[in-house]
Amino acid sequence: MSKQYVFSFSEGDGKNKKLLGGKGANLCEMTRIGLNVPAGFVISTEACLNYLDSSEHELQSGLMDEVREQMLRLEKETAKGFGDFDNPLLVSVRSGSALSMPGMMDTILNLGLNKRTLQGLIKQTSNERFSYDAYRRFIQLFGKVALDVPDEKFDKVFDSIKAREGVGADVGLTAAHLKEISELFLGVVYEHTGKPFPEDVYEQLNVAVKAVFGSWKGKRAVDYRREFNITPEMANGTAVNVVTMVFGNMGDDSATGVGFTRNPGTGENVMFGEYLVNAQGEDVVAGIRTPKPVQEMASEMPALYEQLVELRNKLETHYKEVQDYEYTIEKGTLYCLQTRNGKMNAQALVRTSVEMVAEGLIAREQALLRVDPEVLEQLLHPSLDPDHTQQAVAQGLPASPGAASGKIMFDADRAELVGRMGEQVILVREETRPEDIHGFFASQGILTSRGGKTSHAAVVARGMGKPCVAGAEGIEVDTQKRLARVGNVQLHEGDIITIDGGSGDVYLGQIPTVPPEFSQDLEKLLRWADEFARLNVMTNVDTPEAAKRAVGYGAMGIGLCRTERMFNARDRLPIVVDMILANTPQERQEALELLLPIQRADFKALFQVMAPRPVTIRLLDPPIHEFLPGERQLEAELARLKQLRNTVEGVGDLMGALQLLPGAETKSFIPTTPFNESGIELIDEAITKKELMLLKVRELYEVNPMLGHRGVRLGITYPEIYAMQIRAILEAAAECAREGILIHPEIMVPQVCTVEELLRVKEVVDRTQQAVEQEHGIKLDFRFGTMIEVVRACMRACALAEVAEFFSFGTNDLTQSTFSFSREDAENKFLPFYNENRILQDNPFEVLDVKGVGELMAFAVEWGRNTRPDLKVGICGEQGGHPASIKFCHDANLSYVSCSPPRVPIARLAAGQAALISEVP
Ligand code: PEP
Ligand code: MG
Repeated sequence: MSKQYVFSFSEGDGKNKKLLGGKGANLCEMTRIGLNVPAGFVISTEACLNYLDSSEHELQSGLMDEVREQMLRLEKETAKGFGDFDNPLLVSVRSGSALSMPGMMDTILNLGLNKRTLQGLIKQTSNERFSYDAYRRFIQLFGKVALDVPDEKFDKVFDSIKAREGVGADVGLTAAHLKEISELFLGVVYEHTGKPFPEDVYEQLNVAVKAVFGSWKGKRAVDYRREFNITPEMANGTAVNVVTMVFGNMGDDSATGVGFTRNPGTGENVMFGEYLVNAQGEDVVAGIRTPKPVQEMASEMPALYEQLVELRNKLETHYKEVQDYEYTIEKGTLYCLQTRNGKMNAQALVRTSVEMVAEGLIAREQALLRVDPEVLEQLLHPSLDPDHTQQAVAQGLPASPGAASGKIMFDADRAELVGRMGEQVILVREETRPEDIHGFFASQGILTSRGGKTSHAAVVARGMGKPCVAGAEGIEVDTQKRLARVGNVQLHEGDIITIDGGSGDVYLGQIPTVPPEFSQDLEKLLRWADEFARLNVMTNVDTPEAAKRAVGYGAMGIGLCRTERMFNARDRLPIVVDMILANTPQERQEALELLLPIQRADFKALFQVMAPRPVTIRLLDPPIHEFLPGERQLEAELARLKQLRNTVEGVGDLMGALQLLPGAETKSFIPTTPFNESGIELIDEAITKKELMLLKVRELYEVNPMLGHRGVRLGITYPEIYAMQIRAILEAAAECAREGILIHPEIMVPQVCTVEELLRVKEVVDRTQQAVEQEHGIKLDFRFGTMIEVVRACMRACALAEVAEFFSFGTNDLTQSTFSFSREDAENKFLPFYNENRILQDNPFEVLDVKGVGELMAFAVEWGRNTRPDLKVGICGEQGGHPASIKFCHDANLSYVSCSPPRVPIARLAAGQAALISEVP
């Protein structure tokens, strides 16, 4: 039997989204569970790929035969004829790929209309106005999608008739107007294509299928896939759904609407959506007429509202996911036209997950797995400072929460241009269209003056987690003139506004924002994640304030405190510089003694904030020249100081000379100078210091400092530095212990490549421990461990584990040393090219390179634990906060991941998911 490419809704496999697309598979599934879906069939994504691959750009042979067979079946089912002059069957031809890409590909409605079948439709419906309306819509849509006629050409004709007739809304047009418009539209097509509009309905169908297939390669779709990293493995090609038309514009007992089974902005479990009486689907989505909230249907069409509630309940109980559905009511009968998993913002995703567990609809495991960890970042988005006193100048619908300020841009191209220059941008439009997608990517937020919460702008912004205010009707947008009017105020391109997508408010100028707070739902979800997770989630911080914030996000300890950041603080830098300039160990010791109490206080404060969680403190890592200014800067400063010295001396000479002038004592012009003898001494002192620094900088110069005198190598050659840090850590620990604060310090050595290095540092630790224990009369409890940042350390893990009680993979350096890519340079030189051209799938400094760096880690874990079975192993490079890398760390049996505070919630969820996914056999 030859391969099947076309499937009726009753036979298609509702689970096979790759083959039938999400929409097609769901139409099949809904048909199977008995929902009222208009009859139709799906042409598979395989047929699409065959078409896109064919050099002659023709549908594969035999495909239209399969389509014809299905059309005959539809004719039977509906008792109508495709192309029939008396009782015509009309269909929609809709795109739909494996992953939902809202509005990115094309759809054609009312296909099957021509001059003759139009008469049949008039007879069938006894409604001339409706029929001409359907006809003119079809000509425009088919013309635009299948024949490449620009929309504006049709819009111009349409608007000119409306203007001539003095009609505001489309509903004001009569049958005669629409008839005239249809004829003019046929002329537009002829003028643009040089051919008459196709009358043959099968030709229409053939061209439409090809156009929809082709839209997979359209700019919008390609941009969208690139932005959201949709690979061919995830979705390849679009299916085409051919569906019997049902009409929501057949009078006041007809309507069309879109809905979410729960509120996608807040997650609240309520009917949510909008509808329009006597309208066709695209009117709602395109935001051309502002629709009514679905709640109004309860009084306007009570019986149908009840049916709609029933439909919504069935969808949720079946799919166990929030659904985004579209429906049409044709003369009192409700049809479900499509459903898909609803795109929600993070807040709604979290809330619905937690509530669906409480309702018994899903298990905790499912709740955890349905939230993409990366979306939690949205919850960390700022909102408007609640204390601001500014008055909103306009109000729209709160379409996607979050607050944003930026320069107004009135079209997507300008938004992209200005956004690329690093400016904050708010895209302001009357309504947005799918072709504006690049403007969304470039903008901080979106503001429209028309359309509802399910308009294109709202849906796309929500998916992207960007703030959006939709339908702010008080704002009049004039895209041509690049200005907007709000009352008496005129806004020009480049003016700054602020929008609050949570309230729908629009403000002039910039308003400060405040960081977000964790919701109780998120807390709950993350607690569940912690229960399933095997990995602990730690954080990389170096100040008590950051540590507090990280604890608020659920950090279970500090996995990395980079002590060099403490050295850089204003009050310490001069001491650190003295320590570096010291010529003898004695001099260095003097400076270190000044640093000791400061470091001790630093560590104590961290221990107190984190108690009783573990705190891993890394001994000094960077080359010490990093604490001194650069050579060129010093040379310039010295030159200026010497100039200043000359000037001051010159002023002294001048004053002396002026004294000799006759009558000098009575003249007031003799200048005084702030620099006297002691001033010159000060300058000399500064010059000496700078010269010393310059000498030192030259002495410390290295061609490759990152591979040079740093980390443990520095600690061994300048033992006083590590000795001071170790003492500060242990004294802080002793003070805490004596104050009854339960703490778990860990001392970590960076850049280790041989066990001998570790042993040298360990000797200092042991000596200092003995001394501090004696001085304080207590026993200290802490761990001693090493970072694993170089390839040799991985290879020597078995030996290192004899001394180290824990390993922490510094995957920033380990990636650098494994690839031999400079981490300072690679990301802005060749890596973007490598990624774009798929030489490397990801940036390895962001996403752990599982195949290379990961292999080394796996060896190190295994060999380290051969020596020390209870070896604690973690990761503290940037990759430690990345979900896919966290999954690897789970599988590689690490004990913890450590990341920056805002990544902690993401890492907690990812760690929980990793445990759940790994349990699936
Ligand atoms: C690392 O190398 O991964 C690391 C955490 O250390 P740093 O980034 O400070 O070199
Ligand atoms: Mg490092």
